[in-house]
Amino acid sequence: ARTSLVEEGQTKHIRMANLAIVGSHSTNGVAAIHSGLLRTTTVRDLAEAFPERFNNKTNGVTPRRWLRLANPALADTISTAIGDSWIADLSHLQKLRPLGDDAAFRADVQKAQRLAKARFADWVKRHTDIVVDPDTIFDCQIKRIHEYKRQLLNALRIVILYQRLRENPDLDIPRRTFFFAGKAAPAYYLAKVIIKFINNLGQTIDSDPAVRGRLKVVFLPEYNVTLAERCIPAADVSNQISTAGYEASGTSNMKFMMNGALTLGTRDGATIEMAEEAGEENFFLFGLTAAEVAESRPWYSPYWHYQNEQETRKALDLIFSDHFSRDEPGIFEPLRGALLTYGDQFMHLADLTSYMRADGELCELYRKPDEWTRKVILNIASSGKFSSDRTIHEYAKEIWRAEPCPVV
Ligand SMILES: *Cc1c(COP(=O)(O)O)cnc(C)c1O
Repeated sequence: ARTSLVEEGQTKHIRMANLAIVGSHSTNGVAAIHSGLLRTTTVRDLAEAFPERFNNKTNGVTPRRWLRLANPALADTISTAIGDSWIADLSHLQKLRPLGDDAAFRADVQKAQRLAKARFADWVKRHTDIVVDPDTIFDCQIKRIHEYKRQLLNALRIVILYQRLRENPDLDIPRRTFFFAGKAAPAYYLAKVIIKFINNLGQTIDSDPAVRGRLKVVFLPEYNVTLAERCIPAADVSNQISTAGYEASGTSNMKFMMNGALTLGTRDGATIEMAEEAGEENFFLFGLTAAEVAESRPWYSPYWHYQNEQETRKALDLIFSDHFSRDEPGIFEPLRGALLTYGDQFMHLADLTSYMRADGELCELYRKPDEWTRKVILNIASSGKFSSDRTIHEYAKEIWRAEPCPVV
């Protein structure tokens, strides 16, 4: 019954995944953790029946679009230092590794990043009339809106930072601009509430003289590839914060890495392999692992965090007090449902304190520009694996058995 191609019941359904596996010679996940979960959990019985069919192909992105075209200043800086062979073989970025300790190269990278931020700030002004300051940390989360991707966790982080500044106006933290972009499926009600919440959070902060200028939240409309090409080169921080075990691979994580953003992230999807390539000491990882998420699911209670963690409780109470919805009382009640009443399926509250800890470490590093830029360079140098050239080569060799066709 478990491996049947037909789901029995009132109305029968074809199980498309089972049909695809039985009817093909190869089935792959798109990152190592995803391929492992397919074998052990998602389609375990079929993986035991056809073990030789199961394999991994970690995703990649094209460095021509996502580095050379999107970020000409950084691309030229790289080519000046190591030549331009990286464009056709991204593993050559490894040659940048020793340059993390080269003060002149660090200055060149800082200059390229500042230019990309100014360019993006101009583009944002032209397209939305919003003014952002390129001398603040650009902290980005751009991806489809979904509960598992946890834009809400990011928003809770900002509410806590906002609370800290209101309670302690002398608090010395770097100035930051938080960018969000992403579309919601038309009928995904809670995703639209999340978009509304992020917009209201931004408005409330803008109209609070105690916080204005120190934190800014921007929700960019109409997320698409063009916006991603503009935003990613300007990012200092990439948020990849899905509940561990839910993001098959992710690809924006890779785009950010090759453009020199540092990653604040969970151990999920290809982010795990990115941190392996760069060394975990050059990443800001936090939160439960996929195994811990599965193991704690039966007894997890978000109320424990609400009752025992002061900042968590204050943040939620502020939201539920209509502080961010003065003129629309009650509109954020669905967030109470998602985060407390209905059990917090995506375990936002379980990861919130460790997210704040990792965020604090990242802010401390930002005070030391040379150490920050050294990590930026080590990240770029370690991003070579995440070229789609490598991925496609693996598909051709190990699945399609296709030979290259030389183009003269
Ligand atoms: C890269 C990209 C994605 C995938 O982003 P994830 O954060 O990995 O989900 C989605 N939409 C656009 C427009 C992209 O450029």
